[in-house]
Amino acid sequence: MDIYEEVKSAATIGISGHIRPDGDCVGSVMGLYLYLKKVCPDAKIQVMIEKPADVFSCVKGIDEIHTDFVSDVKEFDVFFALDTAKDRLGEAEKYFDEAAKKINIDHHISNKGCGDVNYIMPEASSTSELIYDVIADKSLLDEEIAKALYIGIIHDTGVFQYSNTAPSTLKAAAELISYGFDFPKLIDKTFYEKTYLQNQILGRALLESIVFMNGRCIVSMVDKKTMNFYDAEPHDLEGIVSQLRNTKGVECAIFMYQTDTLEYKVSLRSNGKVDVAKVAAFFGGGGHVRAAGVTMQGTFHDIVNNLSAQIAEQL
Ligand code: AMP
Ligand code: MN
Repeated sequence: MDIYEEVKSAATIGISGHIRPDGDCVGSVMGLYLYLKKVCPDAKIQVMIEKPADVFSCVKGIDEIHTDFVSDVKEFDVFFALDTAKDRLGEAEKYFDEAAKKINIDHHISNKGCGDVNYIMPEASSTSELIYDVIADKSLLDEEIAKALYIGIIHDTGVFQYSNTAPSTLKAAAELISYGFDFPKLIDKTFYEKTYLQNQILGRALLESIVFMNGRCIVSMVDKKTMNFYDAEPHDLEGIVSQLRNTKGVECAIFMYQTDTLEYKVSLRSNGKVDVAKVAAFFGGGGHVRAAGVTMQGTFHDIVNNLSAQIAEQL
């Protein structure tokens, strides 16, 4: 796919990604935005996602995002859904639905494609790698586009550690760092660095974790009261589930935080033995074989019981 061919006659272009945007969502959305601004200088281009975490403030154009989802355009000529199907676009879903041409670019195996044009590659490391792919003329890349896409790739591969890292991922990253940005600093600031409070919550979640199924599963939870105490937002909890997964002997890790009375956002991670995308999909969520998510209703214990039954079937 050459993305320019898909948008070249558009006067209005909208770009969105999933709710609670992570590094790949921000990286792919902003990488595409910066590229389209360059190749379609006369088009009106708007990004609509929830406010990205402060660590992404180094990405060019981040302050131009319409985080309030207000736009004077009602029917975009082209509207992109990146890193998700349309069901997790949040308030941007209405713009996607109304658009003359809908384009969906994603790497989630649970996404069957919801656009008029679909570029869904479950094998790809990240949606940011896919945006790199669809920029057919690589001479149009620049340092700022490269930085955005690189951030997306490092976040979804755990800095090239996870099994979704392919030779194509490293080749893309190799070309991206040739633009000369300070990549060790970018990795440290956007991926590894935690605030003191984030580390405290992580410590608490580890302390309160419970192993079950003879140590093959681990679960931990942060309730609303604790989140309020630490003044924590969902993005402050990123990384907790992968630390749980690092526990020796664990094949499946569950982390959840309370979003409402009897409602929890659940994150699942596995070492590949358990297909957590399948587990999440059973309860209406989705994701990848080794990383998936879902929102579930019930008490903490009900949810753990329900998830355990599905995990046990696979183990
Ligand atoms: P999380 O643990 O929420 O960061 O999610 C892990 C992976 O699963 C990410 O790639 C998410 O985009 C994906 N994911 C999380 N929740 C859902 C959902 N409800 N539906 C589809 N994919 C999801
Ligand atoms: Mn992604």
